[in-house]
Amino acid sequence: MEIIRTVQSLSNKTKGISIQKKQIGFVPTMGFLHEGHLSLMKEARKENDVLIASIFVNPLQFGENEDFEQYPRNEKEDEKRAKEAGVDILFIPDKAEMYPGEMQISMHVTDRTDVLCGRSRPGHFDGVITVLTKLFHISNPDKVYFGMKDAQQVAVVDMLIRNLNFPVQLIGLPTIREANGLAKSSRNVNLTQTEREEAAWIYASLKKGQQLVIDGEKNPAMIKKEVFDSINNHTNAVIDYVELLSYPELKPLKEVQGRVILAAAVYFNKARLIDNLLFDDNGKLIHVFRQEE
Ligand code: AMP
Repeated sequence: MEIIRTVQSLSNKTKGISIQKKQIGFVPTMGFLHEGHLSLMKEARKENDVLIASIFVNPLQFGENEDFEQYPRNEKEDEKRAKEAGVDILFIPDKAEMYPGEMQISMHVTDRTDVLCGRSRPGHFDGVITVLTKLFHISNPDKVYFGMKDAQQVAVVDMLIRNLNFPVQLIGLPTIREANGLAKSSRNVNLTQTEREEAAWIYASLKKGQQLVIDGEKNPAMIKKEVFDSINNHTNAVIDYVELLSYPELKPLKEVQGRVILAAAVYFNKARLIDNLLFDDNGKLIHVFRQEE
């Protein structure tokens, strides 16, 4: 595995790879790699000739009072894990490399962001699409891999790729969980043992909501209330939202219809956690999102 730290050298490298007609898969991350990240890398490894992953904690997608400084980092361990997952090129730029000066162009997402994390974290997805636009240009991928744990991010990247005609296919892959159901996240290290146990109730509560749909419930308000009360009764977390929306459009629904997302975000003392389930109107789970080739 080669480690590259400059934009210029990765650009040169990927141009050469494309000339050889080799297919590039790309997995962007913020590092502190866990099984969730590694599952994306392993899948991308299977589907591409060359696998590029990046580690960059993007300051642009963190709000003023968010955890940019406290975001966990461990480059040496990440290098080891990425190598084991079959990464060919690990891109680890620093902040000055990605943002040598003030940005003189700003990007703004105007759809699919007035709900869920977009509403709670103003500017977050503007920062996400800005860094991804840069990373897509530098890494020149054919396919890009994201986790459905961040389903709103997948919905936004879907728009980014289609609106700006990136010659790239988006693939959203299943959420990897701890044995107790808690979605793996770099931020889980900031939970106490008790919080970690309580946090399992986010997934358990979403499953209760899904079960209502399987049993024939169509009213989003009823389903959201069940999930909200369940999280509230079993944890000391502060609930940011519990939402049920169409997917990937992320529009409110009068009744459960088509493909829907049931999503929750909660604040524990030192970590904000998100999770979701995607299912159809019979409650059948959908694990993967794949843009058409
Ligand atoms: P992050 O480092 O948090 O920006 O995540 C990098 C990529 O890994 C994103 O596409 C995430 O959606 C994905 N990811 C994070 N956690 C998980 C998980 N538990 N299961 C699957 N993918 C994940």
